[in-house]
Amino acid sequence: PEWERRVSSSARKHSGSGLIVLVTGAAGFVGTHVSVALKRRGDGVLGLDNFNHYYDPNLKRARQKLLERAGVFVVEGDINDSALLRKLFDVVAFTHVMHLAAQAGVRYAMQNPGSYIHSNIAGFVNLLEACKSTDPQPAVVWASSSSVYGLNSKVPFSEKDRTDQPASLYAATKKAGEEIAHTYNHIYGLSMTGLRFFTVYGPWGRPDMAYFFFTKDILKGKPITIFEAPDHGSVARDFTYIDDIVKGCLAALDTAKKSTGSGGKKKGAAQFRMFNLGNTSPVPVTELVNILEKLLKVKAKRMILPMPRNGDVKFTHANVSLAHRELGYRPTTDLENGLRKFARWYSNFYSLPKKKSSW
Ligand code: NAD
Repeated sequence: PEWERRVSSSARKHSGSGLIVLVTGAAGFVGTHVSVALKRRGDGVLGLDNFNHYYDPNLKRARQKLLERAGVFVVEGDINDSALLRKLFDVVAFTHVMHLAAQAGVRYAMQNPGSYIHSNIAGFVNLLEACKSTDPQPAVVWASSSSVYGLNSKVPFSEKDRTDQPASLYAATKKAGEEIAHTYNHIYGLSMTGLRFFTVYGPWGRPDMAYFFFTKDILKGKPITIFEAPDHGSVARDFTYIDDIVKGCLAALDTAKKSTGSGGKKKGAAQFRMFNLGNTSPVPVTELVNILEKLLKVKAKRMILPMPRNGDVKFTHANVSLAHRELGYRPTTDLENGLRKFARWYSNFYSLPKKKSSW
């Protein structure tokens, strides 16, 4: 098939020392940015994505065009397809796998629980099966989530804090992913690094996330719903700008030690790491809306409702000292600057008439 030709040329190494990375979920928000960043610095990159319709497929196709222009080819397929994975691992000697494919979103789990099991549990196991049977085994870096901290009331969240009270099925599948990763590390010597992302936002972002649909609705003059916590306190998120997350992902790939197994056999203790990647400064959702109003120069029509029990948690806040120490991770973009870049992208992408604004 055509992809076989494109696969090897897309993933070809540019320099002798570069990585060769399979990026799953490459047409997703984070996957697009990580793939382009890897390619730009000279690494070999191949994308894999099933282009599902969880949100606007046109946005995924537009990201794919951006990836093509950067020289990244995306194979259209599912991480549950063992035969496809086998072929990919046979054709390209991946040094690393950056696993970002998942069913994301907390609330959608109430409508389609099966898609979380399919992608976040069965698909993850299937991918790790392919990794463990390859010789030499690639090092795996994968996206977990701040949602694993669940109903933990101790903030900021540190990697050693309890993660046994998930508030949603999404969180439960992300937590299960961490446990599954640990078993593949323990039994087969796979090098595993998990990254707990905290509410990532920015250009090419996800339309199912609040900052995105608030922007859309505010510009259309439609009311937006802001949820208030049961104690009437503000719901807050540790919003983290995409470029900071990308830096964390690249540092995790660069510091990943080789697996100690090969072809399914373990040879010694392999690396297992978990890191928070957040911004360390939570912002109330009401403040997010204030910033959007200022940037868009439009007053939002706010509707305040009590928070329903839909899987959302009240508060997230990352302690990133571990990532700082071991990955040199230091977030540098504050919410207003990051949202300005998002708003600029949004108006260009949807060809909105230029307003006299501060975008
Ligand atoms: P996204 O939905 O934009 O990207 C995921 C991509 O994976 C999509 O393009 C989708 O088509 C693809 N995909 C889904 N299931 C697949 C399957 N079975 N086979 C192949 N491809 C599949 O989400 P994102 O925001 O880019 O998130 C990337 C990762 O980071 C996910 O694992 C997500 O759970 C995690 N994460 C994201 C955030 C955030 O705020 N964006 C926060 C915490 C964790």
